[in-house]
Amino acid sequence: MAEKRDYYEVLGVAKSAGADEIKKAYRQAAIKFHPDKNPGDKAAEEKFKEAAEAYDVLSNADKRARYDQFGHAGMSGGFGASGGPGGAGGAYGAGGFTMEDIFRNFGDIFGGHFGGAFTGGGYGDYMGGMGGMGGYGGGRRVNRGSDLRVKVRLTLKEIAHGTTKKLKINKMVPCDKCGGTGAKDKDSYKTCPTCGGSGMETRSVNTFLGRAQTTQVCHECGGEGKVITAPCDKCRGEGITRAEEVVEIRIPAGVGEGMQLTVSGKGNAARHGGVNGDLLVLIEEERNPQLQRDGGDLLHTLNITVPTALLGGTAEVPTIDGKAKITIEAGTQAGKVLRLKGKGLPEINGYGTGDILVVIDIVVPAKLSADERKAIEGLDGKGAFAKAADGSATGPGAKSSQNIFERMRSFFR
Ligand SMILES: [Zn+2]
Ligand SMILES: [Zn+2]
Repeated sequence: MAEKRDYYEVLGVAKSAGADEIKKAYRQAAIKFHPDKNPGDKAAEEKFKEAAEAYDVLSNADKRARYDQFGHAGMSGGFGASGGPGGAGGAYGAGGFTMEDIFRNFGDIFGGHFGGAFTGGGYGDYMGGMGGMGGYGGGRRVNRGSDLRVKVRLTLKEIAHGTTKKLKINKMVPCDKCGGTGAKDKDSYKTCPTCGGSGMETRSVNTFLGRAQTTQVCHECGGEGKVITAPCDKCRGEGITRAEEVVEIRIPAGVGEGMQLTVSGKGNAARHGGVNGDLLVLIEEERNPQLQRDGGDLLHTLNITVPTALLGGTAEVPTIDGKAKITIEAGTQAGKVLRLKGKGLPEINGYGTGDILVVIDIVVPAKLSADERKAIEGLDGKGAFAKAADGSATGPGAKSSQNIFERMRSFFR
């Protein structure tokens, strides 16, 4: 295969070209190389396809960014280039763009002249209602159910250890009466008379260029190649009914607010026994007033009394699985951080676990009884307090302990 040309070069626009400019360039190329203008000209057809492919990428912000960064390598399959619901998955695979893909996209470019016929009929309803068709490389199409979204609220404990949730979900499921086929019984089908079972039909479409031949998904059977002659009376021929289903979702440890998990195949069932959509699970975190999450670490503010700060002692701090006792050393300063190693949350990729960081705050009482006041005043004036406060104390901690005493003094003033 020949080296792929640069998409900007194909459309003859600068790398900085805006959306309108790109659209205009594509429109010109499409008209110039349109098969109807160049009957039997293979080179023109290739140019036509090349322009369509270039436009598909450059008109889409995500794809364009990826192309700008990685070039053609960023466009090949497996790089997240799936077409989305109803799209042609991996459009740039070996076969490249099909004419059908191109005409499908003409709707936006030519204001519906081309695309109109394609999406106007039952197929359009299909797309909206049921999640549309998944493209499987041409030929007969398989219906795909739409994706479902649910939110799951998790506690820190569930996030720390991972959990399994059973959710009752209201969704489309295969009809139990017809087994999802939509037909009354096994003889209630016939081969589609319009497309002869191929699922595709060739139609003439009026365009401003004259009449164009386009190959489209068959309007009668929706691409399935067969039609139901007697529909199932429970699902009225759809093959699906609405029901509640309990879905079990395994949530790995270390997930975070806003993450989305995909449970493949647990979304809505598709018409006539197609492929299920996916269940998209959005993670929400229940706020924990005691432990504030910071990535894998958890922050806890521990209030200790002035005597504990001065003399030391023990305190209890909350952890994910209960409480832990920690030792407060004599002379502990406000703002000191004690680290409980490995007591935080695991990384979702399994590498390492965060810590609990205990931030010390010293509570200075707002009111004192007369006795307390006397006791505190008794400490001041001659002893260690006074020395620390006037800066004459020496040794480690003397300087910062001054701050606390300064605060105490100004409070009593
Ligand atoms: Zn058909
Ligand atoms: Zn049924």
